[in-house]
Amino acid sequence: MITIDGRILSQEIKHEISKTVASQIDAGKNAPHLAVVIAGEDGASLTYVESIKKNTKEVGILCSVYQFPVSVSEKELLEAVDFINQDDDIDGCIVQLPLPEHIDKQKVVLKINPNKDVDCFHPENMGKLVLGEKTFLPATPHAVMELLKRYDIETAGKNCVVVGRSNIVGKPLALLLVQNSPNADATVTICHSKTKNLKEVCAQADILLVAIGKPEFITADYVKNDAVVIDIGIHRIEDKTAEKGYRICGDVKFDEVSKKCKAITPVPGGVGSVTMACLLKNTLLSYSRNI
Ligand code: NDP
Repeated sequence: MITIDGRILSQEIKHEISKTVASQIDAGKNAPHLAVVIAGEDGASLTYVESIKKNTKEVGILCSVYQFPVSVSEKELLEAVDFINQDDDIDGCIVQLPLPEHIDKQKVVLKINPNKDVDCFHPENMGKLVLGEKTFLPATPHAVMELLKRYDIETAGKNCVVVGRSNIVGKPLALLLVQNSPNADATVTICHSKTKNLKEVCAQADILLVAIGKPEFITADYVKNDAVVIDIGIHRIEDKTAEKGYRICGDVKFDEVSKKCKAITPVPGGVGSVTMACLLKNTLLSYSRNI
């Protein structure tokens, strides 16, 4: 059984990005620049933004954070995004979700210049993704595709079952797997909460990709012998035996599934580790278009 190591892959991708950025700076160009808009005090969002700051710094990308209180008005947020859109020195823009309840999320997302939309939230970029045109790829599905590619996991003609149909993970992931391209070409089934006989459907998968948002939901009886299992879920669950009183796990029950499958991503240290590297890749893509 192979444990698909997202941490090593993330280091590889970040190393490639650092080298490209350094060569551009040596050539007298500006560094790539990412702007992040965040409103409110959502703990997970604040942690994620800290991680963006740390990771951009590591690879030589500039990062500007536009932080607003929870009471920020929609107008102020729209103005901030507009400012970022207009600034030619900024290559990428992220609006960190969730936004405070009184803000119309869709209005803010629509305001982002699609050419700077490194999260691929804008409908124009999602549309391009559907059509198989070159665009930013949403970071988590992109991370999964990178893991499959760099671990030489054949997808062409394989039966891939994606559990979860969210707009940021399940749906775009299924679209990427089904693209007419050398690292895709899979036969894809998408499952969700209304799917009948989920266990039987999952047990048909050559590659099972899980983004369901339920800790350790997928047990060994959902998995075919020698399948590849990609666990996208991330949870912090109480564990009195752990030093910190909690542990991190995924949507897949790793201990039992790993005994049965050919390859699996661990949590932590799997998909999540590569997601950030893919966001940096998108920022570099946007920068390359601008220089
Ligand atoms: P959502 O809650 O938006 O979507 C969950 C999906 O799972 C929905 O489509 C839902 O179906 C489906 N689902 C829920 N329960 C069942 C069930 N019993 N049987 C079948 N399908 C079910 O979650 P996200 O897509 O945003 O995230 C999924 C997981 O991935 C979470 O654990 C999240 O923390 C993690 N995540 C990890 C990232 C990373 O970088 N590694 C990034 C983003 C998320 P329905 O549509 O019918 O409600």
